This record gives sequence, structure tokens and C-alpha cells, in this order.
Amino acid sequence: MKYAIKLFSLFFKSILLLVILYVFWYLTFPSIFGYSASYKNIHFHSQNKFNTEMAIKILASASQKLESHYGERNEVEINIYDFQSSKFYGLANPMALSSFGGNPVIDDKIFLYHADVNNNLAYANRAESNEVNLRNVLIHEIVHSYQKHDYGMLKMFSLPLWVVEGHADYIRGESSLDYQTGLNLLSSNKLGSSPAEWYFLSYALVKHAIDEMGATPESLYNETLKKEDVHHSFLSVVNSNRITHMSLSLVNSQ
Ligand SMILES: [Zn+2]
Repeated sequence: MKYAIKLFSLFFKSILLLVILYVFWYLTFPSIFGYSASYKNIHFHSQNKFNTEMAIKILASASQKLESHYGERNEVEINIYDFQSSKFYGLANPMALSSFGGNPVIDDKIFLYHADVNNNLAYANRAESNEVNLRNVLIHEIVHSYQKHDYGMLKMFSLPLWVVEGHADYIRGESSLDYQTGLNLLSSNKLGSSPAEWYFLSYALVKHAIDEMGATPESLYNETLKKEDVHHSFLSVVNSNRITHMSLSLVNSQ
């Protein structure tokens, strides 16, 4: 019994030490980022030198797109940290190691796995679908901060995930999987459950709900419009397009 208590105490102390070390790291890691650029409330930091003019152009373009949905949000100071593939990205974003970026919605810090500012590109640590437009990744991650400020951190975790992610991609204007490729997979019943395919479907549903069903983002966040209803409506459009497409190709082949 005594041995078990000692072992438990040692285990507890080790966990506590790890937590303290992690908090210390989280509070001090921004000091390793030597290069910065800002536009309004959005601040970009990298470990590598980059073209400042290009960075400001990207931040301004992201800011304009966000303002067209949210208006000015200068009260929210966003800090983006580009880890340049270093092992520290895993520490910052342990739940999504193969992602382009992450936003733990704690303090408006956004993490990027690897940004190439000069070419407006962002990379993810995975074999496929690993290169996207940097500005659009920033828009997606900044939307998560605005969602947190609009709904509160606790409520944020109970919001429907397909809306949280789908709406962030809707404002961004794309998903990391090309829209037509996703539609083709869906209409041939080949859409799988990989992260890129899941994000595509969430994006497609939010897009369909807002653009075709006249839904407001609030009706989606508050679940007054249910996912099943949106899914059902979206699939009927996809299927009717597929039948029209099949009939047309049949007519054309005759
Ligand atoms: Zn997201």
C-alpha cells in the first residue's frame, strides 16, 4: 500500500512538473520568433526572414475578406506564429500534427506549420493535399478566434463542429480539397473520411445552407437548421445534377 502511494505521488509530481514546464514554454516561446509584420489587428511572426511587403499584402487581403463578414474587429489582437516546420509546432498544436495551422482558442495565438510568405503558400506535414494558399489558411484560423469572441470559449466547444469548421472554410472561400474533386467523389459514392474529405463536406454543407437555403450563420451555430436537413437538401441537388449530367452525356453519345 505504502509503495502504491509513493508511486502515485511520484506520478502526480511528474505530471505537475510537465504541466509547469509546458506553461512556461507556452508563455515564453514567442521570443524565438525574430521577424514580424502587422496589418491592423493581425500580427505575423516567423523564425525565418521574409518579404515584409508581401506579408503585409497577405495580411491586408485576409483582413479585408474577414471584414466583409465581421466588420472591423480591432479589439481582437491576433498573433500568428510560423514555426517553419520546427519540432515546436508539435508542442504548440499537439492535437493536429498534420495540419496547416491551428488555433487552440485560448489567447488568440495561431500556429502555422510552415509558411512561405514570398509565394503566399502554407504547408502541412503530410504526404497529400499538403500545400494551400497562405492567406486562406490565415482567414480560416482567424475565424476561429472571432467565433470564440462571439460565443465564448466554453460555448465554442459545444458548437456543432461541422459548422465551426465549415463556416471558417466558407469565409475563406475554399476547403483544402478542391471543391469539384470533392463533388465528384461524393456523387460517385467515393467520399471517404480523411480529414480533407471531412472538411470538404462540412464546407459544402455550410455553403449550400447559406447560398442555396438562405440560412444565416446564426441559424447554423444555434442549430435551428439541422445538419440532417442541410445534408438531405444538398444530396438531392448533387443527385439531380448527376442524373442531368448522365442524361446529357447519354444524349451527346447518341
Ligand atoms: Zn479549423
